[in-house]
Amino acid sequence: MKMSNSIKDIIIVIILSILGGIFKILGGLLGNSKSVFVDAMTSIANTISILLIYKYFRMSLEPPDRDHLYGHHRLALGGSISTLLLYSFVGGIILLDIVEGLGTTYTVYIYAPIFATLGMAPYLIGIAISRRIGGSAILYARFTVIELIEGLTTVFASLGGVFVSYIIDFVGAIALASYLFIELVKSFREILSLVSDEAPKEIVEKVRESIEKYGVEFDKIRIRRIVEDVYHGDIVLKLPPNTDIETAHRIADSIENDLKKNLGIDVTIHIEPNEGNGNW
Ligand SMILES: [Zn+2]
Repeated sequence: MKMSNSIKDIIIVIILSILGGIFKILGGLLGNSKSVFVDAMTSIANTISILLIYKYFRMSLEPPDRDHLYGHHRLALGGSISTLLLYSFVGGIILLDIVEGLGTTYTVYIYAPIFATLGMAPYLIGIAISRRIGGSAILYARFTVIELIEGLTTVFASLGGVFVSYIIDFVGAIALASYLFIELVKSFREILSLVSDEAPKEIVEKVRESIEKYGVEFDKIRIRRIVEDVYHGDIVLKLPPNTDIETAHRIADSIENDLKKNLGIDVTIHIEPNEGNGNW
């Protein structure tokens, strides 16, 4: 019962953000405001990208199968890649609109701030609902707070456009577009960091500490981040040459379980005889 309620809530939140986007589009078109138009475009990209982030996140939780022997963790990248694509696409449209506006004057109508204000209401309700759902919906709330800040910027820029000068509206549009490009760079870096097999120093350090706790030596530690807090790696342990296979296995097993349980790291351990300390 609780499950179906939260799905209903999620659908309501999505419909609300689409509604907010529609209000903003109307504001952009009827009010002839570039800042409201930019905001409308980013809102739509935002809504679709949240949907895709959610979709790929769900897919990434699937257990290993025949074609993904390590699991599906990196499918979560589908969300960041989609964001990158959507924001780039929308960024192109926005850039075109801004370039077109350079050197021309235009009139902003009162519809622009009115619809921009109306467009904020669905997001406010959406954030309130997301907070109630909790869990990954909090992520949506965080994204959407930015949407509200953009909304406020738009309301003031278009108000200035109506009552003072179209230039204020135009500057607002440029400011929002710049923010979109910052988001683009952030998304790109996130993807690059994950596909480059980064290993945070503190994680490697913790792995080293875990191994040393067992009083054994190691030759090599390799760890790489798969997604957020999922890591894979391999370790080469050096054990005295007279260690029996059962003891060696027990040590390797303990270290593997330890790393899995405490740090969420999946390692494979290879064992080598420690020639230096051997008693042949
Ligand atoms: Zn698969």
